[in-house]
Amino acid sequence: MNTQYFDGLIVGGGLVGAAMALSLAEQGKHIALLEPSPPSLDLQSTDKHWDARIYAISPSNEAFLRSLQAWPEAQRTQSVLKMDVQGDAGGRIEFDAQAIHTPHLTSIVENRWLLQALWQRLHAYCNVTIFAHTATTLTQEIDAISLHLDNGDILSAPLLMAADGANSWVRSQTDIHTDSKPYHHHGIVANYQVQKPHGATARQWFKDGDVLAYLPLPEQQISIVWSSHQAQALMALSDAEFAEQVAAQGEHSLGKLTPIGKRFAFELILRRPANMYAPRIALLGDAAHTIHPLAGQGVNLGFGDVQALSQLLRLAKDWGSLKTLRSYEAQRLHAVRSMQMGCDGLFHLFKPQNTPLSWVRNSGLNMVNQLSGLKNHLIRQAMGL
Ligand SMILES: Cc1cc2nc3c(=O)[nH]c(=O)nc-3n(C[C@H](O)[C@H](O)[C@H](O)COP(=O)(O)OP(=O)(O)OC[C@H]3O[C@@H](n4cnc5c(N)ncnc54)[C@H](O)[C@@H]3O)c2cc1C
Repeated sequence: MNTQYFDGLIVGGGLVGAAMALSLAEQGKHIALLEPSPPSLDLQSTDKHWDARIYAISPSNEAFLRSLQAWPEAQRTQSVLKMDVQGDAGGRIEFDAQAIHTPHLTSIVENRWLLQALWQRLHAYCNVTIFAHTATTLTQEIDAISLHLDNGDILSAPLLMAADGANSWVRSQTDIHTDSKPYHHHGIVANYQVQKPHGATARQWFKDGDVLAYLPLPEQQISIVWSSHQAQALMALSDAEFAEQVAAQGEHSLGKLTPIGKRFAFELILRRPANMYAPRIALLGDAAHTIHPLAGQGVNLGFGDVQALSQLLRLAKDWGSLKTLRSYEAQRLHAVRSMQMGCDGLFHLFKPQNTPLSWVRNSGLNMVNQLSGLKNHLIRQAMGL
């Protein structure tokens, strides 16, 4: 069987793997991208329905995606100008783009349109070879790593980048130990037409241990993410009944909610692989970390991985050397762990059994809200500015 040689192999062509492939293709490198289910490229701009899976992309990651010319058209994005976070006993913190002299705090985009934008650019490069297959085995040599595909092909390169998601097959082939902690919550996502203007404001409520976010979409619509311990009961409700629950949990701030499209639930798990690399393997995106969605940082962390690794590989002589892989981990692990701990800490701080902490957590929010210097520093950090 013939072996095909590349500068790098990428397993998984989701947002993170596709961005990695594009970034390396731009450097003129020969890349093999393994993705068993490549996305459809014929989305209709007339399709008014917004994807229920949406992301709040930080300005620094937006700039990166724009530099790759992989940013959805303007009518499929929504700028967020303000954020309003409310605790469970009168605590409140508000952020405003104007206060930190930035055009917007974050941008909302849909999963399938961002994926399409990335894949459309990928198809423009002849140095990226796409394999719509899975690998059956992985073999390590001293200076290379090889994948044996289910169609008999063998691909080899000095480095394998694993972007194959939370249950990464590549990671399972290594001896990297993964610490997995279920939150016993599911995230429910759905979209609504709202009665009152949302004012380009992202709203969030911490209530009874649940976390609900309203994210603005164009044309007086919103997307919601509800992290709940009673997701099974909520998913059993009719669309109209669930919409009423969402409106009540959000204090009827936007009036009546009319459902658009389907709702989905996904299990929330904190995953912390002990390392972000194994010999000749780098983990990226959800393969390297998963996080509670309360700060909307899941995919942002993944794009951070891509930028760091891509920058390192630009200068590295041997892409898969221990030195390169250690540098990658050194650059990313602290940022990833800090964000994981921050979101995990907030989630537990607002759990209902923490009632003695109720005063502390709510006054804390109010106190930070008064300290504009600290508040603006925090939001700038979250935005990657
Ligand atoms: C329903 C839902 C809603 C979400 N909402 C939000 C949100 O609002 N905000 C947010 O920040 N995050 C959200 N997330 C998390 C976010 O989707 C992830 O952080 C992000 O998609 C990670 O991207 P990724 O490319 O690393 O992994 P994935 O998107 O999981 O992509 C992995 C890719 O690898 C491919 N693959 C899998 N196995 C193999 C294999 N063996 N060989 C080859 N390829 C393989 C898959 O087909 C897939 O294309 C949500 C997740 C879900 C499931």
